[in-house]
Amino acid sequence: MKILVVGGMHGNEPLGIELVKALRNKPINNVDAVFANERAIQQNVRFVDQDLNRTFPGSVNGKTYEQRRAAWLIEKAKHYDIVLDFHNTYCSGNDCCFIGEQAKPILTQTAGFLDLRRVIVANYDCLNKYAKNCISIEISLDSPINSTELWYDRVRLLAQLQQFTTEGVIEKYLFTYRMSLQDRDTYKLKKANLKAFQAIDPALANKLGVRSPAYPIFIGDRFTPYNYGGILEKI
Ligand SMILES: [Zn+2]
Repeated sequence: MKILVVGGMHGNEPLGIELVKALRNKPINNVDAVFANERAIQQNVRFVDQDLNRTFPGSVNGKTYEQRRAAWLIEKAKHYDIVLDFHNTYCSGNDCCFIGEQAKPILTQTAGFLDLRRVIVANYDCLNKYAKNCISIEISLDSPINSTELWYDRVRLLAQLQQFTTEGVIEKYLFTYRMSLQDRDTYKLKKANLKAFQAIDPALANKLGVRSPAYPIFIGDRFTPYNYGGILEKI
């Protein structure tokens, strides 16, 4: 299996950045590793001009650094069987992965192999939407699996894999809504004691205009202080 590991899609999320460094120090056969938003990584910020993972497909002649980087990444991704794109969140209990609507079946098998049981289909302008071989891995900063060594090992095993056996039990979700800061204040969301992947009160779901059962993620994530989180529904 030919694998591309992407770190620093968001320049201040450490897991992917450390993993790329580890893979460069100690390379694995059939695995390449790249930094996505190099300028943001250098400055330890999420992005420079705009959020790279909302900028796809981008443009080689784009005005912003991120537009050009997005186009470069899509092109780069074409040369691999699987692209593993790493992220972190401050929200506890939020470990999961993201794929695009047009994702190749190999990605749900990959999710199972990597023991990431929650698979979210994202249709905003993220890399997954344009690279059908890209799975984004989202790990809580306080998670026991937020470990460079652990992911280095899982990548090594995936690269050696000849054939997937069973993907096991996968829970699939659709990303349907972004909770705004206004939602937070209007509906007193801080007092609602939301927990990642635990269905919210149907009355609250109704107020937000989302279908029940509705599952919150990225609640109050300090990496994205300009919104309050996301809402999923099961599919
Ligand atoms: Zn991220």
